Amino acid sequence: MVTRQLSRAAGEAAAAAIGTRGQSPGCPPFAAWGCTEGERTWGGDGRAGGGVGDGSGVHRGRGRGLGVGDGSIAEKEETDSRSLKWEPGNWRQQLDNIREMRRNRDAPVDQMGAEKCFDSSAPPEVMRYQVLLSLMLSSQTKDQVTSAAMLRLREHGLTVDNVLQTDDATLGQLIYPVGFWKNKVKYIKQTTAILKQQYGSDIPSTVVELVNLPGVGPKMAHLVMDIAWNNVTGIGVDTHVHRISNRLKWAKKETKTPEETRVALEDWLPRDLWSEINWLLVGFGQQTCLPVNPRCKECLNRDICPAAKRCRGNGCSS
Ligand code: SF4
Repeated sequence: MVTRQLSRAAGEAAAAAIGTRGQSPGCPPFAAWGCTEGERTWGGDGRAGGGVGDGSGVHRGRGRGLGVGDGSIAEKEETDSRSLKWEPGNWRQQLDNIREMRRNRDAPVDQMGAEKCFDSSAPPEVMRYQVLLSLMLSSQTKDQVTSAAMLRLREHGLTVDNVLQTDDATLGQLIYPVGFWKNKVKYIKQTTAILKQQYGSDIPSTVVELVNLPGVGPKMAHLVMDIAWNNVTGIGVDTHVHRISNRLKWAKKETKTPEETRVALEDWLPRDLWSEINWLLVGFGQQTCLPVNPRCKECLNRDICPAAKRCRGNGCSS
Protein backbone atom coordinates (compact mmCIF):
# COMPACT_ATOMS: atom_id res chain seq x y z
CA MET A 1 0.00 0.00 0.00
CA VAL A 2 2.83 2.36 0.92
CA THR A 3 4.57 1.48 -2.31
CA ARG A 4 1.40 2.19 -4.20
CA GLN A 5 0.89 5.55 -2.57
CA LEU A 6 4.50 6.54 -3.11
CA SER A 7 4.31 5.48 -6.69
CA ARG A 8 1.17 7.52 -7.23
CA ALA A 9 2.58 10.55 -5.44
CA ALA A 10 5.86 10.35 -7.33
CA GLY A 11 4.02 9.91 -10.57
CA GLU A 12 1.77 12.89 -9.95
CA ALA A 13 4.71 15.08 -9.05
CA ALA A 14 6.52 13.98 -12.17
CA ALA A 15 3.40 14.46 -14.26
CA ALA A 16 3.05 17.99 -12.94
CA ALA A 17 6.68 18.67 -13.80
CA ILE A 18 6.66 17.04 -17.21
CA GLY A 19 3.22 17.72 -18.59
CA THR A 20 0.13 15.82 -19.61
CA ARG A 21 1.55 12.38 -20.21
CA GLY A 22 2.12 11.49 -16.58
CA GLN A 23 5.62 10.25 -17.25
CA SER A 24 7.81 9.49 -14.30
CA PRO A 25 11.61 9.66 -14.30
CA GLY A 26 13.03 6.19 -14.72
CA CYS A 27 9.69 4.77 -15.70
CA PRO A 28 8.39 4.09 -19.17
CA PRO A 29 6.46 7.00 -20.65
CA PHE A 30 3.14 5.47 -19.62
CA ALA A 31 0.86 6.59 -16.84
CA ALA A 32 2.71 6.97 -13.54
CA TRP A 33 0.94 4.09 -11.83
CA GLY A 34 1.97 1.81 -14.71
CA CYS A 35 5.42 1.67 -13.10
CA THR A 36 3.98 -0.62 -10.44
CA GLU A 37 3.52 -3.53 -12.84
CA GLY A 38 0.02 -2.54 -13.78
CA GLU A 39 -1.28 -2.16 -10.24
CA ARG A 40 -3.57 0.77 -9.93
CA THR A 41 -3.19 3.15 -7.04
CA TRP A 42 -5.97 5.12 -5.52
CA GLY A 43 -6.36 8.51 -4.00
CA GLY A 44 -6.19 9.29 -0.32
CA ASP A 45 -8.75 8.27 2.21
CA GLY A 46 -11.22 10.75 0.83
CA ARG A 47 -11.38 12.85 3.94
CA ALA A 48 -9.39 15.65 2.45
CA GLY A 49 -11.07 18.17 0.23
CA GLY A 50 -14.72 18.79 -0.41
CA GLY A 51 -17.28 20.12 1.98
CA VAL A 52 -17.46 19.43 5.64
CA GLY A 53 -21.09 18.41 5.91
CA ASP A 54 -23.09 18.96 9.05
CA GLY A 55 -25.72 16.30 8.52
CA SER A 56 -28.19 18.83 7.20
CA GLY A 57 -27.77 17.70 3.63
CA VAL A 58 -25.78 20.74 2.57
CA HIS A 59 -22.19 21.78 2.82
CA ARG A 60 -20.74 25.22 2.54
CA GLY A 61 -18.27 26.27 -0.07
CA ARG A 62 -15.60 28.85 0.48
CA GLY A 63 -17.72 31.86 -0.41
CA ARG A 64 -15.91 34.96 -1.60
CA GLY A 65 -12.34 35.86 -1.21
CA LEU A 66 -11.01 38.65 1.00
CA GLY A 67 -11.61 42.30 0.28
CA VAL A 68 -14.63 41.85 -1.99
CA GLY A 69 -17.98 43.57 -1.50
CA ASP A 70 -19.27 45.95 1.10
CA GLY A 71 -20.27 43.36 3.70
CA SER A 72 -23.96 44.35 3.73
CA ILE A 73 -26.54 41.88 5.06
CA ALA A 74 -28.16 41.57 1.63
CA GLU A 75 -24.85 40.75 0.02
CA LYS A 76 -23.99 38.25 2.75
CA GLU A 77 -27.31 36.44 2.27
CA GLU A 78 -26.77 36.31 -1.47
CA THR A 79 -23.26 34.95 -0.98
CA ASP A 80 -24.45 32.35 1.54
CA SER A 81 -27.21 31.15 -0.73
CA ARG A 82 -24.79 30.76 -3.64
CA SER A 83 -22.30 28.86 -1.52
CA LEU A 84 -24.84 26.34 -0.22
CA LYS A 85 -24.25 23.16 -2.13
CA TRP A 86 -26.41 20.07 -1.99
CA GLU A 87 -24.92 16.80 -0.91
CA PRO A 88 -26.63 13.60 0.21
CA GLY A 89 -27.05 13.01 3.92
CA ASN A 90 -24.81 10.32 5.44
CA TRP A 91 -22.70 9.93 2.30
CA ARG A 92 -19.39 10.04 4.15
CA GLN A 93 -20.50 7.31 6.54
CA GLN A 94 -21.90 5.26 3.65
CA LEU A 95 -18.64 5.66 1.73
CA ASP A 96 -16.53 4.72 4.76
CA ASN A 97 -18.70 1.61 5.21
CA ILE A 98 -18.21 0.64 1.57
CA ARG A 99 -14.44 1.11 1.93
CA GLU A 100 -14.55 -1.21 4.92
CA MET A 101 -16.57 -3.82 3.01
CA ARG A 102 -14.11 -3.53 0.10
CA ARG A 103 -11.06 -3.80 2.37
CA ASN A 104 -9.99 -7.21 1.06
CA ARG A 105 -10.04 -6.12 -2.59
CA ASP A 106 -11.27 -9.52 -3.63
CA ALA A 107 -14.03 -8.67 -6.11
CA PRO A 108 -13.72 -9.70 -9.77
CA VAL A 109 -12.88 -6.11 -10.74
CA ASP A 110 -9.86 -6.21 -8.41
CA GLN A 111 -8.35 -9.20 -10.19
CA MET A 112 -9.58 -8.75 -13.74
CA GLY A 113 -10.51 -5.10 -14.26
CA ALA A 114 -9.06 -2.96 -17.04
CA GLU A 115 -6.02 -2.12 -14.92
CA LYS A 116 -5.08 -5.77 -14.79
CA CYS A 117 -5.56 -6.75 -18.42
CA PHE A 118 -2.69 -5.03 -20.20
CA ASP A 119 0.87 -6.22 -20.67
CA SER A 120 2.89 -4.06 -18.29
CA SER A 121 6.13 -4.94 -20.11
CA ALA A 122 4.89 -3.61 -23.44
CA PRO A 123 5.84 -0.19 -24.81
CA PRO A 124 3.73 2.63 -23.31
CA GLU A 125 1.61 3.25 -26.41
CA VAL A 126 0.86 -0.49 -26.60
CA MET A 127 -0.17 -0.57 -22.93
CA ARG A 128 -2.49 2.38 -23.55
CA TYR A 129 -3.96 0.67 -26.61
CA GLN A 130 -4.57 -2.46 -24.55
CA VAL A 131 -6.30 -0.44 -21.81
CA LEU A 132 -8.61 1.05 -24.44
CA LEU A 133 -9.31 -2.38 -25.96
CA SER A 134 -10.06 -3.99 -22.60
CA LEU A 135 -12.57 -1.26 -21.81
CA MET A 136 -14.20 -1.60 -25.23
CA LEU A 137 -14.57 -5.33 -24.62
CA SER A 138 -15.86 -4.86 -21.07
CA SER A 139 -19.16 -3.17 -21.78
CA GLN A 140 -22.08 -5.56 -21.18
CA THR A 141 -19.55 -8.25 -20.28
CA LYS A 142 -18.45 -9.87 -17.02
CA ASP A 143 -14.89 -9.15 -15.92
CA GLN A 144 -13.98 -12.84 -16.17
CA VAL A 145 -15.04 -12.99 -19.83
CA THR A 146 -13.24 -9.74 -20.69
CA SER A 147 -10.08 -10.91 -18.98
CA ALA A 148 -10.06 -14.24 -20.84
CA ALA A 149 -10.60 -12.48 -24.17
CA MET A 150 -7.75 -10.07 -23.40
CA LEU A 151 -5.44 -12.98 -22.65
CA ARG A 152 -6.26 -14.58 -25.99
CA LEU A 153 -5.73 -11.28 -27.79
CA ARG A 154 -2.40 -10.72 -26.06
CA GLU A 155 -1.21 -14.20 -26.99
CA HIS A 156 -2.24 -13.43 -30.57
CA GLY A 157 -0.41 -10.09 -30.41
CA LEU A 158 -2.38 -7.08 -29.24
CA THR A 159 -0.83 -4.17 -31.13
CA VAL A 160 -2.35 -1.73 -33.58
CA ASP A 161 -0.54 -3.26 -36.55
CA ASN A 162 -1.32 -6.83 -35.62
CA VAL A 163 -5.03 -6.16 -35.09
CA LEU A 164 -5.24 -4.39 -38.45
CA GLN A 165 -3.69 -7.45 -40.09
CA THR A 166 -6.15 -9.81 -38.38
CA ASP A 167 -9.26 -10.71 -40.36
CA ASP A 168 -12.66 -10.10 -38.78
CA ALA A 169 -13.49 -13.79 -38.40
CA THR A 170 -10.31 -14.48 -36.44
CA LEU A 171 -10.79 -11.39 -34.30
CA GLY A 172 -14.34 -12.53 -33.59
CA GLN A 173 -13.11 -15.95 -32.49
CA LEU A 174 -10.56 -14.33 -30.20
CA ILE A 175 -13.02 -12.07 -28.38
CA TYR A 176 -16.08 -14.36 -28.34
CA PRO A 177 -18.18 -14.58 -26.08
CA VAL A 178 -17.90 -10.94 -24.95
CA GLY A 179 -21.21 -9.10 -25.18
CA PHE A 180 -22.09 -7.78 -28.65
CA TRP A 181 -18.90 -9.32 -29.99
CA LYS A 182 -19.84 -8.85 -33.64
CA ASN A 183 -20.30 -5.10 -33.18
CA LYS A 184 -17.13 -4.94 -31.14
CA VAL A 185 -15.12 -6.55 -33.95
CA LYS A 186 -16.34 -3.76 -36.21
CA TYR A 187 -15.63 -1.00 -33.68
CA ILE A 188 -12.20 -2.37 -32.78
CA LYS A 189 -11.19 -2.48 -36.44
CA GLN A 190 -12.49 1.03 -37.15
CA THR A 191 -10.98 2.53 -34.01
CA THR A 192 -7.64 0.81 -34.57
CA ALA A 193 -7.44 2.14 -38.13
CA ILE A 194 -8.08 5.67 -36.83
CA LEU A 195 -5.39 5.28 -34.19
CA LYS A 196 -2.93 4.20 -36.86
CA GLN A 197 -3.81 7.01 -39.27
CA GLN A 198 -4.39 9.92 -36.91
CA TYR A 199 -2.57 9.20 -33.66
CA GLY A 200 0.64 7.46 -34.70
CA SER A 201 -0.66 4.14 -33.30
CA ASP A 202 -1.16 5.69 -29.85
CA ILE A 203 -4.51 6.60 -28.29
CA PRO A 204 -5.89 10.14 -27.94
CA SER A 205 -5.27 11.95 -24.68
CA THR A 206 -8.52 13.91 -24.41
CA VAL A 207 -12.09 12.87 -23.64
CA VAL A 208 -13.39 14.73 -26.70
CA GLU A 209 -11.15 12.77 -29.03
CA LEU A 210 -11.78 9.46 -27.27
CA VAL A 211 -15.58 9.68 -27.50
CA ASN A 212 -15.21 10.34 -31.23
CA LEU A 213 -13.75 6.85 -31.67
CA PRO A 214 -16.28 4.19 -32.77
CA GLY A 215 -17.59 2.20 -29.82
CA VAL A 216 -16.19 4.54 -27.14
CA GLY A 217 -18.64 6.30 -24.83
CA PRO A 218 -18.16 8.81 -21.98
CA LYS A 219 -17.80 6.18 -19.23
CA MET A 220 -15.06 4.43 -21.18
CA ALA A 221 -13.35 7.70 -22.08
CA HIS A 222 -13.08 8.86 -18.46
CA LEU A 223 -11.73 5.49 -17.36
CA VAL A 224 -9.19 5.49 -20.19
CA MET A 225 -8.06 8.97 -19.20
CA ASP A 226 -7.62 7.86 -15.61
CA ILE A 227 -5.99 4.47 -16.22
CA ALA A 228 -3.93 5.13 -19.35
CA TRP A 229 -3.06 8.81 -18.89
CA ASN A 230 -3.27 9.18 -15.09
CA ASN A 231 -5.59 12.13 -15.62
CA VAL A 232 -8.93 12.13 -13.78
CA THR A 233 -11.39 13.94 -16.03
CA GLY A 234 -14.70 12.52 -14.79
CA ILE A 235 -16.36 9.66 -12.94
CA GLY A 236 -16.60 6.37 -14.78
CA VAL A 237 -20.22 5.36 -14.23
CA ASP A 238 -21.19 1.85 -15.23
CA THR A 239 -24.31 -0.09 -14.33
CA HIS A 240 -23.05 -0.79 -10.77
CA VAL A 241 -22.18 2.83 -10.01
CA HIS A 242 -25.50 3.94 -11.53
CA ARG A 243 -27.59 1.45 -9.54
CA ILE A 244 -25.88 1.94 -6.18
CA SER A 245 -25.87 5.74 -6.47
CA ASN A 246 -29.63 5.65 -6.89
CA ARG A 247 -30.14 3.19 -4.05
CA LEU A 248 -28.12 5.40 -1.72
CA LYS A 249 -29.84 8.51 -3.10
CA TRP A 250 -26.56 10.05 -4.11
CA ALA A 251 -28.37 12.09 -6.75
CA LYS A 252 -30.83 14.92 -5.97
CA LYS A 253 -33.46 13.09 -7.96
CA GLU A 254 -33.48 9.61 -9.45
CA THR A 255 -31.39 9.33 -12.58
CA LYS A 256 -32.36 7.25 -15.59
CA THR A 257 -29.02 6.64 -17.27
CA PRO A 258 -25.37 6.21 -16.21
CA GLU A 259 -24.57 9.47 -17.98
CA GLU A 260 -27.18 11.33 -15.89
CA THR A 261 -25.69 9.72 -12.79
CA ARG A 262 -22.20 10.85 -13.77
CA VAL A 263 -23.34 14.46 -14.06
CA ALA A 264 -25.26 14.24 -10.76
CA LEU A 265 -22.31 12.75 -8.86
CA GLU A 266 -19.77 15.17 -10.28
CA ASP A 267 -21.98 18.02 -9.03
CA TRP A 268 -21.26 17.30 -5.37
CA LEU A 269 -18.68 14.53 -4.92
CA PRO A 270 -15.24 15.98 -4.08
CA ARG A 271 -12.97 15.62 -7.09
CA ASP A 272 -10.30 13.74 -5.19
CA LEU A 273 -12.76 10.85 -4.84
CA TRP A 274 -13.71 10.58 -8.51
CA SER A 275 -11.11 7.96 -9.35
CA GLU A 276 -11.76 5.82 -6.28
CA ILE A 277 -15.53 5.79 -6.56
CA ASN A 278 -15.68 3.65 -9.71
CA TRP A 279 -13.46 0.94 -8.31
CA LEU A 280 -15.18 0.97 -4.92
CA LEU A 281 -18.75 0.78 -6.20
CA VAL A 282 -18.11 -1.71 -9.01
CA GLY A 283 -16.66 -4.25 -6.56
CA PHE A 284 -19.34 -3.47 -3.98
CA GLY A 285 -21.98 -4.09 -6.66
CA GLN A 286 -20.34 -7.37 -7.65
CA GLN A 287 -20.20 -8.72 -4.10
CA THR A 288 -22.85 -7.10 -1.89
CA CYS A 289 -25.18 -4.57 -3.48
CA LEU A 290 -26.14 -7.00 -6.22
CA PRO A 291 -28.49 -5.97 -9.04
CA VAL A 292 -31.12 -8.44 -7.86
CA ASN A 293 -31.45 -9.46 -4.22
CA PRO A 294 -28.77 -7.23 -2.69
CA ARG A 295 -27.25 -8.68 0.46
CA CYS A 296 -28.63 -6.01 2.77
CA LYS A 297 -28.33 -8.07 5.94
CA GLU A 298 -24.55 -8.29 5.44
CA CYS A 299 -24.24 -4.65 4.44
CA LEU A 300 -22.77 -2.12 6.88
CA ASN A 301 -25.06 0.48 5.34
CA ARG A 302 -28.27 -1.40 6.11
CA ASP A 303 -29.36 1.12 8.76
CA ILE A 304 -28.55 4.22 6.75
CA CYS A 305 -29.49 3.09 3.23
CA PRO A 306 -32.80 4.35 1.85
CA ALA A 307 -33.11 1.25 -0.35
CA ALA A 308 -32.56 -1.29 2.42
CA LYS A 309 -36.11 -0.90 3.74
CA ARG A 310 -37.65 -1.35 0.31
CA CYS A 311 -35.43 -4.36 -0.21
CA ARG A 312 -36.66 -6.02 2.99
CA GLY A 313 -40.25 -5.39 1.91
CA ASN A 314 -39.60 -6.99 -1.45
CA GLY A 315 -38.40 -10.30 -0.12
CA CYS A 316 -34.66 -9.98 -0.57
CA SER A 317 -32.70 -13.16 -0.08
CA SER A 318 -30.45 -11.53 2.49
S1 SF4 B 1 -28.37 -1.86 2.38
FE1 SF4 B 1 -28.79 -3.18 0.60
S2 SF4 B 1 -29.42 -1.76 -1.07
FE2 SF4 B 1 -28.43 -0.52 0.56
S3 SF4 B 1 -26.26 -0.35 -0.06
FE3 SF4 B 1 -26.41 -2.12 1.29
S4 SF4 B 1 -26.75 -3.89 -0.05
FE4 SF4 B 1 -27.18 -2.02 -1.25
